[in-house]
Amino acid sequence: MPRLATRCICCEASPLERQGAVLMPFVAERALGWQACEITPDWGLRDLSIGWAQALCTSLHCTDCGCLFVDMRFDGDEMARLYAGYRGPDYEAQRERLEPGYAARNQRLLAGDEHIPAVEAFLRPWLPPHPTVLDWGGDTGQNTPLRQIAARHDVLDISGRPLVQGATAVAVPEGDYDLIVLAHVLEHVPEPSALLQEVRSTLCANTWLYVEVPFEALMQDCEADAAAWRRKRHWHEHINFFSAEGMRRLLQRCGLQVQAEIRIALAGPGVALGLLCRRWPSA
Ligand SMILES: [Zn+2]
Repeated sequence: MPRLATRCICCEASPLERQGAVLMPFVAERALGWQACEITPDWGLRDLSIGWAQALCTSLHCTDCGCLFVDMRFDGDEMARLYAGYRGPDYEAQRERLEPGYAARNQRLLAGDEHIPAVEAFLRPWLPPHPTVLDWGGDTGQNTPLRQIAARHDVLDISGRPLVQGATAVAVPEGDYDLIVLAHVLEHVPEPSALLQEVRSTLCANTWLYVEVPFEALMQDCEADAAAWRRKRHWHEHINFFSAEGMRRLLQRCGLQVQAEIRIALAGPGVALGLLCRRWPSA
């Protein structure tokens, strides 16, 4: 993956529609060490306007699948800096400084997702009564669907935070799971296809993979108005905004067959896209 994306991260189409945008100060500072600076007359620059210079980036829109994403793809070191101690005290303090009001929102996020019962109702018909479950990128395991009835609840996560009762931390997938969950991860990662191919390589023939991503309000608007993406002028930790078609193309490209889809209302105005898949071709 080059530093600046030149092809669609979902379907690999190119060229892409482009529009200038900014990287929000928290992400620019934490991942890159960049701070906004004020261009003042004493710089003595003839051809630059006076005012604040923010971290520039480009919104890229795929006309084939509708996916929208920022051109800048963070490398491993930058991702490690951005997500070190994710939502912990240091992270929260830095973000509160640049985004007043974040700390209060963070406490609500840490309280857990309210939409999990809807996910569980969607998944249950496909699974045995007491499934073995791996939550890939599942943080503390608090939001793992079906964890209350799971025969085994494993969590693979780099955060190192204490897990909820009954969950086991694993460094690599162990054994053949009935269900692997990859929820609210792909919108953060620079190369979603690489992660999905890694996950796919661990699936047994009978393992279900449940992938969930935010269906951002702007992407919902794009279904009625194809030009709505041009309103995307800033980028934060969600560096990928997925369309439903983009998700299908991405999963298919990674050797995954979608069996069922759902749109789930999140707390507040949000919606999530959930897709249940299997390795393709399945045994
Ligand atoms: Zn595309």
